[in-house]
Amino acid sequence: MKAQTPTATASPETIAFRAALDVVGAALPEVADSIRQELADQRSHLKLIASENFASPAVLLAMGNWLSDKYAEGSPGHRFYAGCDNVDAIESRAVELAKSLFGAQHAYVQPHSGIDANLVAFWAVLTHRVEAPELERLNAKDVRDLSAEDWEGLRRKLGSQKMMGITVEPQTNLIDYDEVRKRAREERPLLLIAGYSSYPRRINFRTFREIADEVGATFMVDMAHFAGLVAGKVYTGDFEPVRHAHIVTTTTHKTLRGPRGGMVLCDAELAGTVDRGCPLVLGGPLPHIIAAKAVALHEASQPEFATYARRIVDNAAALAEALQSNGVTVVTGGSENHIVLVDVRPFGLTGRQGEAALRSAGVTLNRNVIPYDTNGSWYTSGLRLGTPAVTTLGMAAAEMQEIAAIIAGVLRATAPTKTTSGKPSLANYTLDEPARSQAEGRARDLLGRFPLYPEIEL
Ligand SMILES: *Cc1c(COP(=O)(O)O)cnc(C)c1O
Repeated sequence: MKAQTPTATASPETIAFRAALDVVGAALPEVADSIRQELADQRSHLKLIASENFASPAVLLAMGNWLSDKYAEGSPGHRFYAGCDNVDAIESRAVELAKSLFGAQHAYVQPHSGIDANLVAFWAVLTHRVEAPELERLNAKDVRDLSAEDWEGLRRKLGSQKMMGITVEPQTNLIDYDEVRKRAREERPLLLIAGYSSYPRRINFRTFREIADEVGATFMVDMAHFAGLVAGKVYTGDFEPVRHAHIVTTTTHKTLRGPRGGMVLCDAELAGTVDRGCPLVLGGPLPHIIAAKAVALHEASQPEFATYARRIVDNAAALAEALQSNGVTVVTGGSENHIVLVDVRPFGLTGRQGEAALRSAGVTLNRNVIPYDTNGSWYTSGLRLGTPAVTTLGMAAAEMQEIAAIIAGVLRATAPTKTTSGKPSLANYTLDEPARSQAEGRARDLLGRFPLYPEIEL
C-alpha cells in the first residue's frame, strides 16, 4: 500500500495515526487495514455499549511505543529488573494522579484489567484477614524465594473461599439494604463486595460499610463501570466509594475513558500487599499502558471531565425517559448512572434478537440479563444501553430523544421467526426492511453531526 503524504493542514493526530498505520501496514497490511476499518465501523454505528468509550488520541498514542519493551516487575524504586528509571517516573506520576483524583491513601496502577485488579484485592484481603501460617510465610519472604509448598498453600487458601451473591428485590428490582444486612449477619463474610455492570442505579456505600463493620467484614467496591462518575464528582457523600471502602478496584477504560486496564485504590494498611500484586498474581506490568493511564488520570482531573461525567448521567436519565415515552420497558423505571437496562419481552423478543436487529440498523449495544431472567445469559431478555461513548461525542438530551426513537422503531419492527415446532425462535428474527433502513439513516445522520475523532483524517 502506498504511503499517503500528510498535507500541510493535517492535524498532528492525523499525521501521527497515518504514519503509524503506514508503518504497521508495511509489516502486515491486513492488520493495518482492520485497524482502519475499525475506525470506520465505530464512526458509522452509534456506540451504546455501556462498558466502552472513546479514549483521547493522547491516551491512544501513549500506548504505541517502546515502553512496551520494558520489564518492570516490582514497584517504583524497588524493581527486579535494571533500567527502570523512566518506568519509575511514569508509574510514580500515575500513582500520584490516581491518589489525588480519588482521594485514596494508596493506588496500585499495574493491573492489566479489572479482573486482575480484583485478584490483587482478593489476595491482599486474604493475606490480611485469613490466619494461615503459609500466608504469613509468603508475606515475610521475597516472592522469588517461595517454594512449591508455599504456592500450594496459597492456592488452597484462595480456592477454599465460598462466594455468594445477593439479588435485587423482585418487585422494584432495586437493592434491598435490609436484605443485605440480614444475609451478612447470617453469613458473616470475610469480604463484602459492592459493584455492578448492569444495575442502573446508585449504591449507598455508607450503608454497605456500616453493614461490613457490624459483621466484621472488609468492604470492597468494584467501581469498574462507574469510576468516571466518581472521578467527575457525580457520586459524592454516601455514594462515593473510596471514602467508605477499605479497598476499591476499577477498570480504566469504561467511564474513566483511559486505556484498557485496571487499578486498585486502598487504605495505607493494605498498600504493601497490594503492591506485591506483581509478580504474585499478575504478570509483568505493562509500562506503555501505565503511561496511558497517567495521561487519562490527568485528563479526568480537569474541570471539563466533571462536566462530562454529569452529562453522562443526565443523558442516561433522558434516554430512559424517552424510551419509556416510546413504549419501551426500562428496568427500575429509570437510571441514576450511565446505564439503561431495557426489558425486550413486551416486543416478544430475546436480547439476542434485539441486539442483532439494532446492529443491522447502525446501533451497537449488547444484550444483557434482566433480574430473574428466564432466557439465560446467552439469549437474555434485556438490552444494556450506556451513554459514556455518545456523551464523549458531544450528544445531549435532544440526541437521546432521537436515539430512543430509533431503538423503539427497530424493536417494534422486529419479530422472532417460528421454529419447526411452531414456537418463536430465541435467535432468529425478521426486521422490516424500510424500518431498518430508516433507522440506519437516522443513526448515520446523528453520527454525521457528532463525528468520532474529528481531528483524525485517515
Ligand atoms: C468490566 C468489569 C470488570 C472486568 O474488567 P476487565 O478489564 O474486562 O477485566 C470487572 N468488574 C466489573 C464490575 C466490571 O463491570
